[in-house]
Amino acid sequence: MMFKESTLSLVKEAEEALKERFVEIDAVAFRGTQKVMAAFAKHRVSDAMFAGTTGYGYNDKGRDTLDLIFADVFDAEAAIVRHSIVNGTQALAIGLYGLLRPGDVMLSVTGKPYDTLEEVIGIQGTPGNGSLADFGVVYKEIAFDGSFDYPAIEDALKDKNVKMVFVQRSKGYLDRPTLSVKEIGELVKFCKARSDAYIFVDNCYGEFCDECEPTSVGVDLMAGSLIKNAGGGMAQSGGYLAGTAKAVELASYRLTTVGVGNEVGATFGQNRDLFKGFFYAPHTTAQALKTAALAAFMFEKAGFAVEPRYDEPRYDIIQQVKCGTPENLCAFCRGIQKGSPVDAFATPEPWEMPGYTDKVIMAAGAFVQGASIELSADGPLRPPYTAYFQGGLTYESGKIGIMSAYEEVMRASEN
Ligand SMILES: *Cc1c(COP(=O)(O)O)cnc(C)c1O
Repeated sequence: MMFKESTLSLVKEAEEALKERFVEIDAVAFRGTQKVMAAFAKHRVSDAMFAGTTGYGYNDKGRDTLDLIFADVFDAEAAIVRHSIVNGTQALAIGLYGLLRPGDVMLSVTGKPYDTLEEVIGIQGTPGNGSLADFGVVYKEIAFDGSFDYPAIEDALKDKNVKMVFVQRSKGYLDRPTLSVKEIGELVKFCKARSDAYIFVDNCYGEFCDECEPTSVGVDLMAGSLIKNAGGGMAQSGGYLAGTAKAVELASYRLTTVGVGNEVGATFGQNRDLFKGFFYAPHTTAQALKTAALAAFMFEKAGFAVEPRYDEPRYDIIQQVKCGTPENLCAFCRGIQKGSPVDAFATPEPWEMPGYTDKVIMAAGAFVQGASIELSADGPLRPPYTAYFQGGLTYESGKIGIMSAYEEVMRASEN
């Protein structure tokens, strides 16, 4: 791909301005890698673990070892890592159904949960479909504007039926800041002093962005997707849960069935990619963070509102660019698509996505379908026409994607 002189010189300026940030991002990746490699060594990772099993999958040394490694790296007592968990939503649902019982209250303290959880909880969808609401789980929510509403949380926790405090770490596709692990730690202290409720974190997009994870600061359970950060761009599918031994055991009864738990589950030769992916994960996450910071600088220079800004701390890999017009948003996504390694020839178009009120445009050219640790962007066609983008397996390829998006948007806004 060829780029204009003006684009190249803006990139140069950006990389100059981002030098210190990049050093910090690399330092987090280094410490993450240290943790991962120490866990690999401690658990004596060896070639035989990559072989995989069939049928029940008893004595799958690779599977059992990877569970222990995730637990160690995330400072948790236990973990479940499976290629067969279809996505982040299922990993989260396994945790929700694993911990909640009829009559329990699930209290979200970060406002509305991620879209796909609404049907799981039963605030959307058809009654009788097997949502948590069908089983008598009561859902309550406390609004979140960037910081926790502690007085409201204190009040809500007086209800002893509150069995779970639910936290979404990443902004996801909402216009709100992402939580740092430190902020989650403060919430944990506050809640644990007042209640026995489990604290469950939606950790999607958060892994390896910060010095440690929510489970390092006392969260009972967290869950995430392996086609985001924790799979390092290598996992072909999957999800994980990590937390206390008790919470993970209860979750394992929903993963398979009560009494069986996590001691079964054939791995068919997926172990190698999951091990390799976790080995890459701190580094790959750093590539995505750098790509996001570069875009923040370039689009801010071009006059667009961005969130977070280039020099702000990043606690997930998502970058918002407020494109201002539908034309600019579509141009942004076209540019990302053109600058992708796979399907670069395709042109994304806005479409009526089921469950959304506005048309949505999406760009993705990934080796793994839907993998958002790979460079990808989307946005609903409504003001302020925000592009949410994330990923980039390598900073070099991410940079190419961003330069492509930048030139496409510049062309569109000249017209
Ligand atoms: C990606 C994501 C999920 C899960 O989405 P899947 O597409 O099912 O993996 C849940 N919560 C947040 C905040 C996410 O970013």
